[in-house]
Amino acid sequence: MGFYDDLGVATTINAATTLTALGGSLMPREVLDAMQDAAGSFVDMYELHLAAGRRLAELTNNEAAYVPAGCAAGLVLAILGARTGGDPRAIRAFPGHAERPHEVIMHAAHRIPYDPAVQFAGATIRQIGDMKQTFAWELEAAISDQTAAVLYVWNSSLPPVALELSEVVAIAHARGIPVIVDAAAQLPPVSNLWRFTRDAGADIAVFSGGKALHGPQASGLMVGTAGLDEAARQNGAPYQRWARAMKVGKEEIAGLLAAVTRFVSLDHEALYAESMRRVEGWREAFIDLGGVSLTVESCNSAGQAIPRLHLEVDDRARLKGVLESLSSANPRISVLPDVRNGEEKGFWLTPELLVDEEVVLVRDAVRQALAVGN
Ligand SMILES: *Cc1c(COP(=O)(O)O)cnc(C)c1O
Repeated sequence: MGFYDDLGVATTINAATTLTALGGSLMPREVLDAMQDAAGSFVDMYELHLAAGRRLAELTNNEAAYVPAGCAAGLVLAILGARTGGDPRAIRAFPGHAERPHEVIMHAAHRIPYDPAVQFAGATIRQIGDMKQTFAWELEAAISDQTAAVLYVWNSSLPPVALELSEVVAIAHARGIPVIVDAAAQLPPVSNLWRFTRDAGADIAVFSGGKALHGPQASGLMVGTAGLDEAARQNGAPYQRWARAMKVGKEEIAGLLAAVTRFVSLDHEALYAESMRRVEGWREAFIDLGGVSLTVESCNSAGQAIPRLHLEVDDRARLKGVLESLSSANPRISVLPDVRNGEEKGFWLTPELLVDEEVVLVRDAVRQALAVGN
């Protein structure tokens, strides 16, 4: 009997995407092996963090890197680093150190449910722009001696009204303000590992370990300049400091490093072609069903080159029946609902996290569910 069976918790076939709520991603063999290997010995965690950081920096063409407990944790650490400069006295005086800069500037268009990372770092958000436009002078005017950092969220599903990252970097750096990029779901391409930092000049970019990297769910990847990376590290475990509550273990560090090593050497074009072939296969299998519009999409919701199939179902009751039938199937099948203005319009099927048998199983289950409601 497996762990989930034993506990009475149903597993699910993930045709949705890498969602924290579904367990992130599944770790490939080499990641699991690395974690098991690391689990077999004690080690000096300070040394391990630094050595893994150096290796990750090399792999990602950055000056420095660090393994936080996820992208959100990495954002907290980076903001704490920006606020304290890594000075142990400042970290000790935290929270509420009145002399420390406590504002983080964000575009209105970048306000997402991960904002609490800012509050967690004891800072407040100073918003610029609106959902229609942002002007460079708004950023200029928002910067003051209270500014700790600019937090920039890179995600193509957000309204495209933010200033260009390079422009933000130029304005912020001219005033000595660091720029932190939330790039949680911005992989592939591999080149994004250095695009925001080395190429566009941001000080730090943070990725999720448990999304496209297929690393441990409770890991992240922070890359960027040595100064801010080190200042961030000073706030986290194993130090008994402010962000101690977000520690990673030796196993997560080993797993994330193995995941990044694997990710940079994968043939992403071949993976894309394989996913596209699966998506086309689904489309062909559903094409004769009436009342369903099928669209092959080349990108996922975060804008990454991960193909998926969009199914729009005209009849709402039929759609509801399909979604219920998939979520109560055995095994359960998770898809990504398409909700617009509070109304369910259809759903997406993504093959990227499936093995061949599951692609077929999803095809048959979806076809059957759609046929019943027809
Ligand atoms: C997933 C996500 C996060 C959170 O990442 P974790 O690794 O789960 O902490 C933050 N920002 C964005 C844009 C995300 O997509």
